[in-house]
Amino acid sequence: MPHPETQGDPVDTKSEQPGRRGRGGRGVMADTKPDQLATAQTLFDFLRGRVPDGYKLAEHRVPHLTPDQAWCVVWYVQELHMQLSDAIERCDVCGDLFDSNREGGYAEDGPPWHFCEACNDNR
Ligand SMILES: [Zn+2]
Repeated sequence: MPHPETQGDPVDTKSEQPGRRGRGGRGVMADTKPDQLATAQTLFDFLRGRVPDGYKLAEHRVPHLTPDQAWCVVWYVQELHMQLSDAIERCDVCGDLFDSNREGGYAEDGPPWHFCEACNDNR
C-alpha cells in the first residue's frame, strides 16, 4: 500500500520536487545500489525520448513524455517494486499484454510478430 505521504507525489503540483520527500518518515535511508540509479536514469531518459544504446525503435514508437510524466512512471515502477520479466509481450493484433512463457506466440515473418493465445487461436 502506498504510504500516505507518497500517495499524491506525482500529481502534487504544489511540491517543486515531489521525489525528495517520497520516502518520508523512515529516518534511515535504505541502501541504494548505484546500478539502481543508472537503471532509473535509463528509464527516465527513455520515457523522455532517448533510446538506450544498442536498441533500435521506430521514431513514432519512442515516447516523449515531459520530465514530470516520466518521473511519474519511474515513481510508479519503484513504488510497486517492479521487476518485470522480458517474457511479457504485447499482442500486435489486439494490443493486450501476455506472458509469452505461458501463451501466445512469435512469428518470424510478421507483422504480427507477437500474438496472444486468443489471437493465435483466430489466426
Ligand atoms: Zn491478442
